[in-house]
Amino acid sequence: MWAPESHVGWQAAYIGLGSNLADPIAQVQRALSEIGEIPDLRVERCSSLYETAPVGITAQPSFVNAVVLVQTRLTPRTLLAHLLDIEARHARVRAERNGPRTLDLDILLFGEDMIAEPGLVVPHPRVHERAFTLLPLLEINEALVIPGIGKASEKLNGVAGQGIRRLEAAPAIGLRAS
Ligand code: ADP
Ligand code: MG
Repeated sequence: MWAPESHVGWQAAYIGLGSNLADPIAQVQRALSEIGEIPDLRVERCSSLYETAPVGITAQPSFVNAVVLVQTRLTPRTLLAHLLDIEARHARVRAERNGPRTLDLDILLFGEDMIAEPGLVVPHPRVHERAFTLLPLLEINEALVIPGIGKASEKLNGVAGQGIRRLEAAPAIGLRAS
């Protein structure tokens, strides 16, 4: 029998989290536990939280960022729909690009998939250009290879000037006993 969400099998996906409004640490921690409640998904590992200087529009509060590794049998589209739903629950108002936000959730990598569709680009186009994605990704998996890009560790030089500081160790929150 054809089952719409089970044909892809379990895949590793890396999700990037970011917030710079309304108690960013709490926003990220709450989002982590909400990600843990998505069906057909298991949280496997979470990075530390990082404080990062804003990119683009610099006159705004600094960001709190993290990355979480999950195993999921959702399709990338369905995972994205769940993430947008969580963003909406955090009262996210879409304003300017790179501007302040209560919560930003991005699919950074989805297995080996390379997707370029309207509304869904994976790997995330800037994943290898931002310290706030590269450092937490490497904390989780130092041997990570970004499909179409190469070894994540070889991209570190390119983000050397970006302001980033590790805030606290990986929160246990959102991790399900399996
Ligand atoms: P950004 O995260 O680039 O600052 P936004 O979060 O405002 O921008 O953009 C959200 C839109 O980006 C979503 O509606 C989604 O359709 C699209 N999008 C494209 N690729 C991805 C991805 N890999 N992860 C999350 N959203 C994505
Ligand atoms: Mg986003």
